[in-house]
Amino acid sequence: MSFFSINKSFKGGVHPDEHKDLTENSAFELMPYPTEVVLPLSQHIGKPSKVLVKKRDLVKSGQVIAEPDGFISSIIHSPITGKIKDIGKTASVGGRPQEAVTIVAEGEDEVVFMEPLDADSITAELIIERVKEAGIVGQGGAAFPTYVKLMPPKDKNIECIIINGAECEPYLTRDYRYMVERTQDLIIGIKLIMRALGVKRGIIGIEDNKPEAIKMLKEATSHHSEIKVEVLKTKYPQGAEKMLIKVAVNKEVPPGKLPLDVGVVIQNIRTAISVFDAVVKGEPQITAALTVSGFGIKTPKNLIVRVGTTIQQVLDYCGGTNEDARKVIVGGPMMGVAQYDMSAPVQKATSGLLVLTEPEMKHSQETNCLRCGACVDVCALNLIPKDLAKFSKAGKWDEAEALGVTVCMECGTCSYNCPANIPLVQWIRLGKQRVINIQRSKQNVS
Ligand code: SF4
Ligand code: SF4
Repeated sequence: MSFFSINKSFKGGVHPDEHKDLTENSAFELMPYPTEVVLPLSQHIGKPSKVLVKKRDLVKSGQVIAEPDGFISSIIHSPITGKIKDIGKTASVGGRPQEAVTIVAEGEDEVVFMEPLDADSITAELIIERVKEAGIVGQGGAAFPTYVKLMPPKDKNIECIIINGAECEPYLTRDYRYMVERTQDLIIGIKLIMRALGVKRGIIGIEDNKPEAIKMLKEATSHHSEIKVEVLKTKYPQGAEKMLIKVAVNKEVPPGKLPLDVGVVIQNIRTAISVFDAVVKGEPQITAALTVSGFGIKTPKNLIVRVGTTIQQVLDYCGGTNEDARKVIVGGPMMGVAQYDMSAPVQKATSGLLVLTEPEMKHSQETNCLRCGACVDVCALNLIPKDLAKFSKAGKWDEAEALGVTVCMECGTCSYNCPANIPLVQWIRLGKQRVINIQRSKQNVS
């Protein structure tokens, strides 16, 4: 019987080439201090932060330069010591120009971190306050301000937290490196999150393609009976919230509902590390941790970089791109965003930077739908991708809504599996956005 014989999974999903071997044995490297950083004011979901500095101000590493503007918003700190060069629109990894603060390095790096706190005695209230002060945002994709997630509404009975260690996107090994390099810090970070939420049960969900991390975490949690390591089958999108909750605690999150509606809060591995750093070291979130990979980059690495470092600077640090490089993606290949402007900066939640060559990119001529049902078979949410895409393309918003277009998590699994190469997720994303806009305008009218 295999050690991993009880591995849990879900219906649907796909098995893309992992390519994790490119970086899984590369320990984190600290990228040298950049000469200039660009800090978008919207590095989180919610309202952009409010600028507190002006042109030519001098700032130090760790100094607050923007404050939250509303409940769902976040503090931004300067990642370097230098002078405010500009405040205005710059390129962003999301593709649209964004309001940002540009800082040029000047003089020796002076650090103004917060006072370290005792992880054993700190109260739940102080943990939440520290997480807010550190400007920590979730690392699972949406970049939701973490302190808000630690303050669920009083009527929600949170029973457990799930730490997402699945890292199911191909190529990415950032979370894996944290699990093997900072195992003890991770456990303390998880316990701090559990104390903040007042829960007694923590689960680390991890795919079975990471045996070393599973072994180390099982050993590390053997003295912490409140935290369990749950081994999951390697399959994309195993790390999606709904999938993780289903396999880890056998609960279904109904359409339109959130994990906290079924008593669960999900946090990412890197988020737990950031909580540890904020509490134990007093360190605000001024760095991003990312995997730089793909066959188009000369030296793939796992890097810690100051937030605001441009994509070009990161690529240069990794030896530049190979001649056959064709595409740069921020994030993983399934849900990441293709980049056209290498002056866009790394943000707090950036998890990966991929440089792909022709053979790594799945692109061939689009043909008519074959009605094969392959997209339906792999959709973990039981949607009918071919019809959602068809209605979105035809502007039939009512039909798309009725079929559940807003439920789609945009995982890209259907597009990946379509033999006709139809860009299903792109059409569905467009339809979803239009339906959400229509729903909002109806709410505003009534
Ligand atoms: S992108 Fe949406 S429709 Fe396609 S497989 Fe994922 S959840 Fe299903
Ligand atoms: S997988 Fe592609 S070709 Fe097959 S039914 Fe779905 S959209 Fe059509």
